[in-house]
Amino acid sequence: MRATRAIIHIDRFCENVKRIREKIGRAPLICVPVKADAYGHGAVPVARAAIDAGARYLAVATVDEGVDLRAAGIRAPILVLSLPLPEELADAARLRLSLLLGDEDMVKEAARAAEQIGEKLAVHLKIDTGMGRVGCRPEAASALAVHIASFRSLVYAGTATHLSVADSRMPEDSDYTKKQVRIFTQSIESIRARGVDPGIVHAANSGAILLHEDAYFDMVRPGILLYGYSPVEHPSITVNPVMELVTRIVLIKTVRRGEALSYGRTWIASEDTRIATIPVGYGDGLPRGLSGNFSVYIRRCLYPLAGRICMDQCMIDLGNDTDIRRWDEVTIFGGNAQSAADIAVKLGTIPYEITCNINKRVPRVYTSLF
Ligand SMILES: *Cc1c(COP(=O)(O)O)cnc(C)c1O
Repeated sequence: MRATRAIIHIDRFCENVKRIREKIGRAPLICVPVKADAYGHGAVPVARAAIDAGARYLAVATVDEGVDLRAAGIRAPILVLSLPLPEELADAARLRLSLLLGDEDMVKEAARAAEQIGEKLAVHLKIDTGMGRVGCRPEAASALAVHIASFRSLVYAGTATHLSVADSRMPEDSDYTKKQVRIFTQSIESIRARGVDPGIVHAANSGAILLHEDAYFDMVRPGILLYGYSPVEHPSITVNPVMELVTRIVLIKTVRRGEALSYGRTWIASEDTRIATIPVGYGDGLPRGLSGNFSVYIRRCLYPLAGRICMDQCMIDLGNDTDIRRWDEVTIFGGNAQSAADIAVKLGTIPYEITCNINKRVPRVYTSLF
């Protein structure tokens, strides 16, 4: 196996599940989003760990992601969060994936696809309470609920919404979330008033788990929090990063004062120094934008990158007096060292994007349990 690998600390993942469980109390079910290959952590092993740790539902973005989980023998309910094409519905029905739908046309298509193969498809009604992405208008929810319940080939299994600023402590954002929750609650009542059971009611993402207890309902959908990052500053629970990106030094050499390193000659040695090459680059998902603004950990000390990050490799300045050796381990993020959140801050993005982008080329190594 190559030097660059993502160690996936399943024990930390399970610990994070436990912390969230303690926070939300006994009642709400947990739905674990394993979309985008479990935020880059590997959908199948994470899904298995999640179920073992007591999660009842899994969520994916696409039907194909659901297909992969079923192919791995995972039998738990799987909710497809994004809208599929009509031609993907037959697979969804065949594999008993649950769909999140918010318009009449797709409900009809789903009913037809299920009927054609003699299966029952579970549908969750998605209500748009202010995210503006998918879902029906709140005032249309009860009619749509009646519509879903009217098909024999469909099971009306749940009702959901998504919160757009639940991770913000700004008063106006907090009010916006409260408004979304209020609208959602009223929609649920309007569905019950028509004599229809809304099924499992769910709304809370990681941000809402931390800041909005009134959004818990019957089930919560924590993503990033389970992977060890809080979307909220100073969270009330501690979670630990699950992914640790490591590599090893494959070469150390002396570079003389005035010599240039890497593409563009952006780095020039100001004195004689020892330079290490590590086999990780933007082709692995280490963002090229970190060039000139990043350090890695070797034996618990920080060393800066020297020159631009290449597709497959980059260089580190060890200084002219070092006992670091060839083949030594390097931690890029997620160990005791800096986290993907620190990297995200440098790039003006969020840790989700950093872990998601760690490429398929980087082998995932799972600790404990498996
Ligand atoms: C991705 C996603 C989540 C999880 O969001 P986090 O911010 O990672 O907790 C929850 N619900 C839906 C609909 C999502 O798409």
